[in-house]
Amino acid sequence: MVDVVYRFGPDTQGGERRPATAARAQQLLEAGNRDFHALFAEAHDPDTPAVITVPAGDVGMSAGVGVLAHEPFAAVVGCADARVPIELVFGRAVNDLFVLRVAGNVLGAEVIGSLDYAFQNLPTLRLAVVLGHSSCGAVTAAVDAYLNPASYLGLSAEHQLRGIVDQLFPAIRLAHAAVLRNWGDEAATNRGFVPALIDTATALNAAIMASSLRSELARYGLEGIAPRFGVYDLVTHAVGSPAAGSEGGTYVGLSEPPRDAEGFRELADAYATGPLVTGAMAD
Ligand SMILES: [Zn+2]
Repeated sequence: MVDVVYRFGPDTQGGERRPATAARAQQLLEAGNRDFHALFAEAHDPDTPAVITVPAGDVGMSAGVGVLAHEPFAAVVGCADARVPIELVFGRAVNDLFVLRVAGNVLGAEVIGSLDYAFQNLPTLRLAVVLGHSSCGAVTAAVDAYLNPASYLGLSAEHQLRGIVDQLFPAIRLAHAAVLRNWGDEAATNRGFVPALIDTATALNAAIMASSLRSELARYGLEGIAPRFGVYDLVTHAVGSPAAGSEGGTYVGLSEPPRDAEGFRELADAYATGPLVTGAMAD
């Protein structure tokens, strides 16, 4: 059994809920995710719940507070997938995260518009995170369309759906090249090829989208908000990326997106030779 308790009461974290720097904001999200995925570890004591403190003032429980100030410290773009509840994954609560969820965590006009609003109007923001996740249906559909042109043709009249799939293609192309570069042309006949492509493309897509956010932030001169990306693993419940490092075969932590084509190539190679892909190719 696993208990997660939202405790509404006095703010026991003080100013920590509004971190002063991007580095500290990143630590808070990583620590929250560490607590979350530790709940599912074998070593977890089932009698010890995870407690997420929600300051009473943030839900209007304090007398005379009136309308709350909107003060999230991180904007997060995640997938609409119901298995990836963003606040829970990062162990955060009300008024901490400005969350946008859309299939494949792609950046369409409405998402970018919402982020631009947040970047310009919410001075407490320190991070802009793009969070992909394993076994993503949107990435899987896009990989299928990429590998089977006939199925892509079926999407031709479905403009909205195609909009999502088309946005995922750059990551899939990078992933495809990296898998072939590291595993040879015969990789395409390996049973693990498609899962390897999906895993690598998922991470690269999150990185590409986070890199786009960097450009968006630069446009507004907002150096105080740092772009980051990560992938949530549905099995381990950990958020990670190759650049952030691994613990026991599991990637943990958020990463800065690459700054140029060479950086993306290195990230693609790291993923294509990492534990997930190596496991898939060995199956
Ligand atoms: Zn998804």
